[in-house]
Amino acid sequence: MPVRLLDIRRLQAPLQADLDRAVQQVLHSGQFILGENVAALEREMAQYCGVAHAVGVASGTDALLLALAAAGGPPGGEVITPSFTFVATAQAITQWGARPVFVDIDERTYNLDPQRVAEALTPHTRAILPVDLFGLCADMDAINALAAEHHLVVIEDAAQAIGASYRGRRACSLGRAGCLSFYPTKNLGGAGDGGMVLTDDAELAERVRMLRVHGRQSGYFYHLHGYNSRLDEIQAAILRVKLPYLEEWNAQRRHHAALYDELLADLEEVVTPFVPEGYGHVYHQYTIRTPHRDALRAWLQEREIDSAIYYPLPLHLQEIYRDLGQGPGSLPVTERVAREVLSLPVSPEVGEEGVRQVAAAIREFFERR
Ligand SMILES: *Cc1c(COP(=O)(O)O)cnc(C)c1O
Repeated sequence: MPVRLLDIRRLQAPLQADLDRAVQQVLHSGQFILGENVAALEREMAQYCGVAHAVGVASGTDALLLALAAAGGPPGGEVITPSFTFVATAQAITQWGARPVFVDIDERTYNLDPQRVAEALTPHTRAILPVDLFGLCADMDAINALAAEHHLVVIEDAAQAIGASYRGRRACSLGRAGCLSFYPTKNLGGAGDGGMVLTDDAELAERVRMLRVHGRQSGYFYHLHGYNSRLDEIQAAILRVKLPYLEEWNAQRRHHAALYDELLADLEEVVTPFVPEGYGHVYHQYTIRTPHRDALRAWLQEREIDSAIYYPLPLHLQEIYRDLGQGPGSLPVTERVAREVLSLPVSPEVGEEGVRQVAAAIREFFERR
């Protein structure tokens, strides 16, 4: 049996009738933009993440952009962020009108190293944009402490970490604002694009609400330079059907991860994910490291087992960021990790059987070497 990284049809099969009904209801209601489903999803998500306010927007990228625009004051200056992340994190910074400053990661968590963040601060630093990569929260207490000392805004990119926990709090509640993506492959995915900004700051939430409809105050009167960035009713209705399953899906991901940890534990050339004390991982990706990454990936592919490299080229080495002047060798941990990471199938529908099949193939690869 082939093992896929993600099989959305199989994952959503038990919900299909409810999903069909939810979409039909929206179609018949005639209310497609900012209606009752978006409002209800915002209440449900705020409660789920343990924050006071949630604002649905058109994508995770826009969530980051609108959060920066709402919290960061006038554009400009520098925003500290990892290079080892999806490109959207940095593109939100440049779209807002600031300059990304890429900082190296902790070798075990793959998230921003607070020590390196401290070293990268300049008089131009305005914000820190940490990422909860692969579903593990960044070290937010250390990052928030630095931000408080230097009067910086912290926006948490939790696009991969919905439901993750950090010292008793949920991802998205850990900075001034937290940002989610509902891209179809995320742990909670819609049938199209979608995103959300979550915050305890009522004024910030109000500014995001204005920004998503052109900066409108009321009627045809505008208070801010805004955007057109709304979550639509069909996406919200679909996400409301799926949200009650999220805890169970994340638990299945954790179960699969624990099984991989056990089955791969004795392989000397494999590093399995590290979860610090007090952190709850949601395994958007189960990512191992090995110096034989490319050969292992080819071996798995021959056996019809999917795997993926997130991310093969760190952002500071991408052509679009060459003018920032952070060349090869500037972020040694990021660069080494990017050569060695491999993400394995961990999604709920992969099942224990799938995990055992992948682990057996990996063990065979190393036994033959
Ligand atoms: C998916 C993702 C985003 C962007 O979300 P979109 O909804 O695709 O715009 C941002 N940051 C990270 C880390 C992501 O994984």
